Amino acid sequence: MANLILILGDQLSPNLSALDGADRHEDLIVMAEVHDEASYTNHHKKKLVLLFSAMRHFADHLREDGWQVHYQHYHPGNPYQNLEAVVADQVQQLNATQVITTECGEWRLHEQISQWHERLGVPVEIRADTRFIASKQEFADWAKDRKQLRMEFFYREMRKKTGLLMTPEGEPEGGQWNFDADNRKKWTGNPPVPAPFRIEPDGVTRHVIALVEEHFADHFGTTDDFHFAVTSTDAQAALEHFIDFALPCFGDFQDAISDTEDWLFHSILSPYINCGLLDPLAVCEAAVQAWYSGRAPINAVEGFVRQILGWREFVRGIYWLNMPAYAQENRLGNTRALPWFYWTGDTKMRCMHKAIDATRRNAYAHHIQRLMVTGNFALLAGIRPEEICDWYLAVYADAYDWVELPNVLGMVMHADGGYLGSKPYAASGKYIQRMSDHCANCHYQVNKATEDDACPFNALYWHFLDRHRDSFASNPRMGMMYRNWDKQKPERREALIRRAGHLLANLEQL
Ligand SMILES: Cc1cc2nc3c(=O)[nH]c(=O)nc-3n(C[C@H](O)[C@H](O)[C@H](O)COP(=O)(O)OP(=O)(O)OC[C@H]3O[C@@H](n4cnc5c(N)ncnc54)[C@H](O)[C@@H]3O)c2cc1C
Ligand code: SF4
Repeated sequence: MANLILILGDQLSPNLSALDGADRHEDLIVMAEVHDEASYTNHHKKKLVLLFSAMRHFADHLREDGWQVHYQHYHPGNPYQNLEAVVADQVQQLNATQVITTECGEWRLHEQISQWHERLGVPVEIRADTRFIASKQEFADWAKDRKQLRMEFFYREMRKKTGLLMTPEGEPEGGQWNFDADNRKKWTGNPPVPAPFRIEPDGVTRHVIALVEEHFADHFGTTDDFHFAVTSTDAQAALEHFIDFALPCFGDFQDAISDTEDWLFHSILSPYINCGLLDPLAVCEAAVQAWYSGRAPINAVEGFVRQILGWREFVRGIYWLNMPAYAQENRLGNTRALPWFYWTGDTKMRCMHKAIDATRRNAYAHHIQRLMVTGNFALLAGIRPEEICDWYLAVYADAYDWVELPNVLGMVMHADGGYLGSKPYAASGKYIQRMSDHCANCHYQVNKATEDDACPFNALYWHFLDRHRDSFASNPRMGMMYRNWDKQKPERREALIRRAGHLLANLEQL
């Protein structure tokens, strides 16, 4: 009466629900590196290395723990190139009575696995992913009957549910729910940023690097200087490194961007949380503990906890509540193709070049680079949501459909008509100048808007507002922007629209 337990590449957690009640001697765990999952998008080479190596280490760990594991290593000549084929073969070999798995993180695969019971001829039990703090049903119940879904209110529910940063009387620690207003400092070199956590590749990882170089040579990015953790022990060390060295300043400089520093005070934990090497609740608890013991201030700890307990859970809820229709949304009617420089970094716009180049080297860019640089540009330029979503899904080590799609389509592109965010994060070059030191080193002049050497973000910003007036003019949070636009002389407005028209017609040359 053996069960076949399928563990996916982002389910590398010993407490995975699929393992609940399983029998180490009878049941068989199946893990597989398959072509279809590795190639459905142009995954960054470092993301492939991270996942294949972490999967191999996890399988070894399970075996050491007494489990029987069938593990398929990637090879282009493998007879089974997708998960269904691997599972079908193992069901037959094992004469399995049923397949057990934990719900996956992508609609695409979820659709496939939901059909397996018919195609494999055995029952397929899909269990809830208990690593999330809110279940899909809990989010749906919260969202029901609400006209607008706002992260802040959901986040408060999650604070109450977990008790994180709550007083015994049920009040938020520090007297307020949200310390975001304290978290907007520019970083000018002080305090110095800590070195990022690094693990040198072991034999398994080196082998995987060679494999990725051989079989995925045309994928985006580089494997050079791979230093991610690939085991839960090392990911835990990365968490401790963050808490000791970066968390104290995480809040102050959360929105900062630097011309010289890739990582600033960010945690660089999303690749580990999203593939299961770290538990999100335990990560939040560790940060909260740092505040109780006086090692980090409240604005840093609350800001950090809000990202995980609030945003991460919120976007997941939005995704499952609205898929598959959500992926097709394009409420601003964008039609432009993604400029090629998103793949090369070959642009004179310093901020874009730096964000894309870091992405290519590291499979990482921090939140403000994703939101206010590469995202903001795509929003202002009217890039087709599908294309920019595909780019974000490919290029980051932490990218999975459930988290990438709402962030890009909803938060950045406002393509869902304001379902996820109350206003678009559109900004001119002035914002980037305020939060970074890029502009001083740029080919373009941030203080100019209509001249040939003017910062492209400036005219594109006004063009965006002007062309979407019908959608946004009545939004109370955008009234000031429209008043500023309307205040300008007609000749100035015409010159801005002309300059933006020229930029939009020549995006590839920027
Ligand atoms: C356009 C765009 C695309 C994004 N795509 C992804 C993605 O594919 N995968 C992903 O995990 N995050 C994504 N994010 C959210 C966020 O940018 C990353 O989680 C963060 O940059 C990861 O780096 P970090 O671990 O150093 O984060 P930190 O800045 O240290 O934040 C701490 C943690 O909070 C969580 N978090 C923060 N913001 C968000 C958010 N908006 N949504 C979900 N979780 C959040 C992450 O788990 C992160 O590790 C995206 C954001 C934007 C604007
Ligand atoms: S001037 Fe404009 S394009 Fe150049 S770095 Fe500043 S914001 Fe970016």
